[in-house]
Amino acid sequence: MAAVDTAKLYNTETRRMEAIAPGQPDGLLRIYCCGPTVYHYAHIGNFRTFLVQDVLRRLLLAMGYRLRFIRNITDVDDKTIRGAQRERTSLGAFTQKWTDIFHGDCDALNILRPDGEPRATEHIAEQIAMVEALIRKGHAYATADGSVYFRLSSFPVYGRLSGVDVGQLAPQANDTGETANLADEYGRDSVSDFALWKAHKAEDGDIFWESPWGKGRPGWHIECSAMSMKYLGETIDLHGGGIDLCFPHHENEIAQAECVTGKPFVRHWFHSEHLQVEGQKMSKSLGNLLTLMDLKGRGYAPDGVRYALLSGHYRQILNFTFSGLDAARSALQKLRTKVAQLRSTAEGNAADYSQKTETIPQKIATYRHFAAAIEALKNDLNIPKCLGEIFSVLNRTAAADRQFFEELRSIFFILGIEIFSDTDPNRAPSVPDAIAALAAQRWEAKQNKNFGEADRLRQVLAEKGWDVVDGKDSYDLEPNGR
Ligand code: AMP
Ligand code: ZN
Repeated sequence: MAAVDTAKLYNTETRRMEAIAPGQPDGLLRIYCCGPTVYHYAHIGNFRTFLVQDVLRRLLLAMGYRLRFIRNITDVDDKTIRGAQRERTSLGAFTQKWTDIFHGDCDALNILRPDGEPRATEHIAEQIAMVEALIRKGHAYATADGSVYFRLSSFPVYGRLSGVDVGQLAPQANDTGETANLADEYGRDSVSDFALWKAHKAEDGDIFWESPWGKGRPGWHIECSAMSMKYLGETIDLHGGGIDLCFPHHENEIAQAECVTGKPFVRHWFHSEHLQVEGQKMSKSLGNLLTLMDLKGRGYAPDGVRYALLSGHYRQILNFTFSGLDAARSALQKLRTKVAQLRSTAEGNAADYSQKTETIPQKIATYRHFAAAIEALKNDLNIPKCLGEIFSVLNRTAAADRQFFEELRSIFFILGIEIFSDTDPNRAPSVPDAIAALAAQRWEAKQNKNFGEADRLRQVLAEKGWDVVDGKDSYDLEPNGR
């Protein structure tokens, strides 16, 4: 196996910076990230987390690591069940619709598809087998109603990842009188026995599976332990998720997995901080929950959204603002304009450089021009520092050779941004006359502050396959793939 350069990343569990290295002799780096719950549009907070994971994955690929990257789909929980019932459709049809929409958003944001994307409902047998093993080993117990709980007192090291205080048991009791938590999601003050299997309730209707304990469905936490073990083995190298998952979800994943195997579950925990909107936690009740579709509807293209969501360090809260999104769009424009200029003045075989940024680069360890930018990423995935380095290299560069473009291509492969597109000033998209006329009408309506009409025309254009991207004094039209 060729030696690889190492990336360092903060490990939530050890609270230290650690080198990323495969733990097994086959050299394969096993990565598991918790995926979306598919009951609605994923919001831009979710995408911040998925984008950070995507850049880490791209970096590791470019550095020569061999990876297996698994990200699950949570397609059964309270929210998916209620959603399917509300729409009077099957759970499968309901979650497939939202899975497709999630995939569409990921593609638009240029997030690489995982190597495997297992769904909870397709691994019920594996989850039941794991619950049975936990009962056999004395770590879980069934209650009279046909639910099964993990016995927290049987796992004394519970809480070592998040530092949560196990002494603070919640005052809920299940029907054996033990302190238990019935919800999938619960707060920090309610450390208690948690559900591995949930007995069928009348409100679940026809959504249930047969099990040794009767009809029911898995609790949320067991799916990740069961599916990561199936696809990656008993010990995984890197496990990721948003910081909210640290407790209880990841603590519970550790407890379930380690009590079954007796081996360490995860060698390195990778958590990314949350996204806020205009300084506030994103929530439906505050009306500030934003999706990619909302941003596209306001004229922002997905590459600018990607850039904005990646612009902060992953271990710090990112405050999303529309002025920040405008700044991201103009930063991207500046980068592309500069790259286009360098290409237009390049000589020899650099002049025709047009390689797309979507293939995995090679030999980044020997790069000269962008070494500091790559170093920033290798050191706790410091994307803002990397972007700063890229700008300073571009600002001081007046002429570029082929090696320069090759390195530029690599760094933008890692960031997942197509830097050579739209860089040819002569290449304007061919917009049909009728579309151009509608767009001009819309612009005029907007200038006259007739926003209702402007929005209506934006919608008409979107349905005809064109998104309008407004600038300060003009607008662009971009094909939206419809
Ligand atoms: P969910 O679909 O709720 O299971 O979440 C999918 C991923 O998004 C998980 O890794 C969450 O930790 C993450 N996440 C949820 N809310 C936010 C947020 N506001 N900012 C960043 N990541 C988030
Ligand atoms: Zn998980």
